[in-house]
Amino acid sequence: MHAKRSPSGADRWAACPGSIAMEAGYPDESSEYADAGSAQHLVFADATMMARSAGFYLGAIVEVGTIGEAFDGAIWCRKNASDDLIPPPAGFVRRRSFVMGEPELELLGIAIENCREMLRGSIYAETEAEVPIYKLTGEAGATGHADVINILDEPGQGPQILRVLEVHDYKSGRNEVKPDCRQLKIYGLGAADLFAPIYGPFDKIRLVIHQPIVSDRPLVAEFLPKELASFAEEIRQAAALSIHAENTAAEWMGKSTEYLVPGRTDDETQCKYCAASGACPGQDAFITETIGLEFAALADKAGGALVLPGWDDPGGATLGLRLAAVPAIKSWAQAVEDRAYSTLMKGGPVAGHKLVQGKRGNRAWASEEEAEAEMKRMRLKQDVMYVQNLKTPTAMELALKELPSKWNKLSRLVTQAEGKPTLAPLSDRRPAIKPPGVATEEDFTELNKPFNPEDLL
Ligand code: SF4
Repeated sequence: MHAKRSPSGADRWAACPGSIAMEAGYPDESSEYADAGSAQHLVFADATMMARSAGFYLGAIVEVGTIGEAFDGAIWCRKNASDDLIPPPAGFVRRRSFVMGEPELELLGIAIENCREMLRGSIYAETEAEVPIYKLTGEAGATGHADVINILDEPGQGPQILRVLEVHDYKSGRNEVKPDCRQLKIYGLGAADLFAPIYGPFDKIRLVIHQPIVSDRPLVAEFLPKELASFAEEIRQAAALSIHAENTAAEWMGKSTEYLVPGRTDDETQCKYCAASGACPGQDAFITETIGLEFAALADKAGGALVLPGWDDPGGATLGLRLAAVPAIKSWAQAVEDRAYSTLMKGGPVAGHKLVQGKRGNRAWASEEEAEAEMKRMRLKQDVMYVQNLKTPTAMELALKELPSKWNKLSRLVTQAEGKPTLAPLSDRRPAIKPPGVATEEDFTELNKPFNPEDLL
């Protein structure tokens, strides 16, 4: 059953109890990005279960849409470029179509191989597994869908054999998702509840994120069942508060922000995926408090005259605080722009703003076939008519998947530029680097070491 308090939305509704009530006033518009993720999930689950490589799905078509209230997700139109098209089920309303190309299949391939590797020795595995979550969220009959559930035995200490429950989830986004996130913990608890009577008791619950755009290895977190018990209690309380905020919305909405808790840093992403983002008084309060200006004053400064902390900022404390809030502010700014655009597109008013015609798109042939035929009639030479490009290393690696010796030979000719220094919070997994050409404290320590003639020997 579709859950209002879904596992994938848990970071929002558990952190911001009023968000379910706030979202009710806005249409649930799934983004292209989210739909592309749903399409890739379908390929990930199918390839994992059918033991197929990602290359099999080149040219596959996945459609994302709804069947009334009962279904909102991805279905196959065809699994392979040479397959016939599969007619959609009755009542299916298509929202978007996706054709699987080399870039996404290259990333999916890493995730599929890693997941299949972990499924070796499996006692039981299931994809797109529907697990009960109602005991955690308090919503009658609520369920969630885990990409892959895997149950296996593995050696413990000495002769001990451990029964392990694994939950695997594929992520297509660029923002790293931690395997100990609320979504996976809820799936883990739901799966343990469902499978314990047949395969339990479980000694360990392993949560696995496959996010190849971030890491070419799976990201893993492990818990003893009793360790997840305290999280279960925490999420039950958060769900109860969220239900209370929803049931009493008429009393506080528009009058108070007591149930609205915006994300204040990059780690707190609740507003990013909230339908109320950009029109929420809780978010407004956070932004004005962080910037130190009311919106009216900010509009006056729309020429870039905002004052940023300068050299009198010991340890960069103020700059660090503001930097930590930038992702939340950017996300809010994007949400405001999106909301204004969609309001104007629907014919509504946005004070001081209007829609205008944007820059024209690139020119294209109305019909490539007709243009090509016309050029041939003109007897134009091949090199005038066509451009031939060498395939990229990524495309060639995929094309030579079954011929690894050829790819090994070619791969020696591949070059890749180093990444540029980039800002990251201290919690980032990557080690800090020295800014190029800048002496750091360590260098001075080295230089200031007392001279020891033995160092010259
Ligand atoms: S925009 Fe943020 S603060 Fe407002 S309801 Fe949504 S999650 Fe809560």
